[in-house]
Amino acid sequence: MPGTRRYKSGMSVERLAALISDHQPCVVLTGAGVSTESGIPDFRSPGGIWARYDPMEYATIEAFRRDPAKVWDFYARRFEVLENAQPNAAHHVLAALERGGYVEAIVTQNVDRLHELAGSQNVIEVHGSIRTSSCLACGERATFDEVVAMLERAPAPSCPRCGSIMKPDVVMFGELLPEGAIERASELARRARLLLVVGSSLNVYPIADLLQDTLLAGGKLAIVNRESTPYDELAELTIRASAGETLSHVARRLLV
Ligand code: NAD
Ligand code: ZN
Repeated sequence: MPGTRRYKSGMSVERLAALISDHQPCVVLTGAGVSTESGIPDFRSPGGIWARYDPMEYATIEAFRRDPAKVWDFYARRFEVLENAQPNAAHHVLAALERGGYVEAIVTQNVDRLHELAGSQNVIEVHGSIRTSSCLACGERATFDEVVAMLERAPAPSCPRCGSIMKPDVVMFGELLPEGAIERASELARRARLLLVVGSSLNVYPIADLLQDTLLAGGKLAIVNRESTPYDELAELTIRASAGETLSHVARRLLV
């Protein structure tokens, strides 16, 4: 087990930059915390989405099948926020680090498309994305923009082909993860010499397994998250600070 080391802010950023440049390939695992600085609330922080909506009523596939219109009342609000959200410094730095050869891939639990909008190329979305919605009855698909237009006319988007209510292509509790995504993520995690976690409470199974994949293969773990996580003790470095600010400092040290 690698020793836990904590450094004061300036030094820890130096240390993170050194870890990234000395331990390649580096794979980044992001969660909702990478997008809060874009104005998208996370799930577990005080004031996060679950403080206002009970996940068992809004985010399970059973809830959707039982009452899709009710679940769309929740998603319509999320779509409204996501329609206008822009990538923040953390997304931009991660894209720049990939272009600079410092980041091999991003494995994200987010569904907000912000890594892609920032220009990251190799992004694995293990919980799907709001990019498309699908009809569970006939398989018809609609793009995010098409769904936004439908939501202006009706409280839930109806399939243009068969009229059923469509479902956003995000993984709800009780659903399987997108085929191949977790396998690709796991392979990347095993090859990574450094797995850098940014903005995740690391509570959602099976994402945390990726950390074990890296550690068991002899790679190191670094965590940038405002709160503590169950994996802090296993990390080479933990930085409890803002993702945007921390990564901006790292970029200044690695990218000129
Ligand atoms: P989480 O809500 O469980 O944890 C987020 C963590 O990020 C918290 O520990 C918090 O302290 C930290 N954090 C918040 N803002 C931060 C910042 N600016 N800098 C550094 N750390 C910050 O999120 P999770 O681990 O991603 O798991 C929740 C699930 O919710 C995921 O499956 C994800 O798909 C979904 N989700 C996605 C979005 C999105 O797409 N943007 C938003 C909310 C939830
Ligand atoms: Zn249909």
